[in-house]
Amino acid sequence: MIHRAIFSPRPPTSTHPPIPLPLLAATTLALACAPATPPPSAPDLILRGGAVATVNADNAMAEAIAIDDGWIVAVGGNAEIDALAGDDTEIVELDGRLAIPGFIEGHGHYMSLGNSKTILDLNGAANWDAIVAMVADAVADAEPGEWIRGRGWHQEKWDRPPEGAVEGNPTHASLSAVSPDNPVLLGHASGHASFANAAALAAAGYDRDSEPPPGGELVRDANGELTGLLRETADRPVQGAFNDSQFGRTAEEIEAQFRREVRLAAEEALSKGVTSFQDAGAGFPTIDRLLALEAEGALPVRLYIMVRGHSNEEMDARLADYYMPAQGDDYLSVRSIKRQIDGALGSHGAWLLEPYSDMRASVGLVLETVEDITGTAHVALKHGFQVNTHAIGDRANREVLDIYAAVFDSAATPADLRWRIEHAQHVHPDDIPRFAELGIIASMQGVHATSDFPWIPLRLGDDRARDRTYLWRSFINAGVLINNGTDVPVEDIDPLASFRASVTRQSADGAIHYPEQKMTRIEALRSYTINNAIAAFEEDLKGSLEVGKLGDITVLDRNILAVPDNELAGARVDMTIVGGAIRYAR
Ligand SMILES: [Zn+2]
Repeated sequence: MIHRAIFSPRPPTSTHPPIPLPLLAATTLALACAPATPPPSAPDLILRGGAVATVNADNAMAEAIAIDDGWIVAVGGNAEIDALAGDDTEIVELDGRLAIPGFIEGHGHYMSLGNSKTILDLNGAANWDAIVAMVADAVADAEPGEWIRGRGWHQEKWDRPPEGAVEGNPTHASLSAVSPDNPVLLGHASGHASFANAAALAAAGYDRDSEPPPGGELVRDANGELTGLLRETADRPVQGAFNDSQFGRTAEEIEAQFRREVRLAAEEALSKGVTSFQDAGAGFPTIDRLLALEAEGALPVRLYIMVRGHSNEEMDARLADYYMPAQGDDYLSVRSIKRQIDGALGSHGAWLLEPYSDMRASVGLVLETVEDITGTAHVALKHGFQVNTHAIGDRANREVLDIYAAVFDSAATPADLRWRIEHAQHVHPDDIPRFAELGIIASMQGVHATSDFPWIPLRLGDDRARDRTYLWRSFINAGVLINNGTDVPVEDIDPLASFRASVTRQSADGAIHYPEQKMTRIEALRSYTINNAIAAFEEDLKGSLEVGKLGDITVLDRNILAVPDNELAGARVDMTIVGGAIRYAR
């Protein structure tokens, strides 16, 4: 395959000033008769008058930063940076706001995020009219005949009842009027009802004489016409029609949907200050499609994709073609494999050393076997790939450490491998030093802790909840690199929520869970920037604001390194800059 050849990746120093001396000399000679040598170009963009958290080795702060041709060319005081400005330099006044290295999502699911954005989130809708308006917007963005789906509506949360309500619920007339050609199916917040427009009812073969499947109810108005409300199993024929619509799509339709999901995921990421995204798993066909978008310049966010879903034999045969560490201003890198040894704690799927406190017969589930993952580890070592294995329970973490240790022992030169354990949520304290000894990265998600803590003691009991759960301080004190993320779409991609969880360990109910394991502000910021870059072998390109790195910068409305804990929740992303281009502004 020829991925790299068609992208002509640019090394960091290839085009931005200073001009290399031999070239300058040649240019001067060639232009000896010209009146003057043009001065070196001024920066394209300057951010000034704020707090610039460089996240360099000393965590130095600055006031201003200059970017030219996508790369950081100067960081320093206002006067020093102002002096570089030229007539065409765009100046952004920070007015005391905080500029940080662009957030890097350390573990998320990019295409799933995009797909989730193709389904309308109706939770916050004030009333039925607002939902109809959301559907109308979606129709404007859709192809004729394409399904519009949504979920989360609840008539009891609305500020006024719908016009012409039947049993407190709307009728489909308003929905059918804004979406005559696109079938619409909107799931109720309870999961026990759905709402369909005329096109969706017709696609399901429903008319006024229809009977629902057993266990369902078709709600009718006084004239016996279907209102569109489908109780319980009555939505199955509509779901079936949607599923049918997904088969037999043309290559063009599949490609259009793919591009839409890529774009929607990027919009969401950029709006939350995320400039790079580490995707926890895609197969070769998806990677091929993303490579094509990268070649077109159609990837708005930089992606690091873990290879997922192929057998060890297939990976052994194909990984050499997909080894693409980040270079220059790449938007796609591939150099790792994702595996998954266990499930999640909430569903009693995490693999534990001792039984669940609330299910004494179970120690959880093994999803992918030790033998299979060991085989992957050998293939990865051979091809220079990282292995990033999902492990949530303490037994799962121990088993993965054992696999990694055994494979490293077999290597002639166990070099700088940076293999990762994804989640590392519940870890026996004896295993913490092993992460450090083996150089294993704990790829954690701060916000999972505060989402899950209200019920973790039920599953594990108080002692295990305290001693083995989200051990950020223990990891950091042992010298283990922690990276941070959200596992989006499991959680919202918002890095500020995960940052807040990392430094407060405070859940939505106000409770603070084992504060002795908190990160400091700067540790949390490093976990979301430079640590994530290191965890992808990309620290020479990104993760800090230093000369020679990419101009990937996020501007926040307040200084999250300094404001009191209770002001963190209000923090907002004001601007997201990728490669020197402002891609989001609030
Ligand atoms: Zn995940």
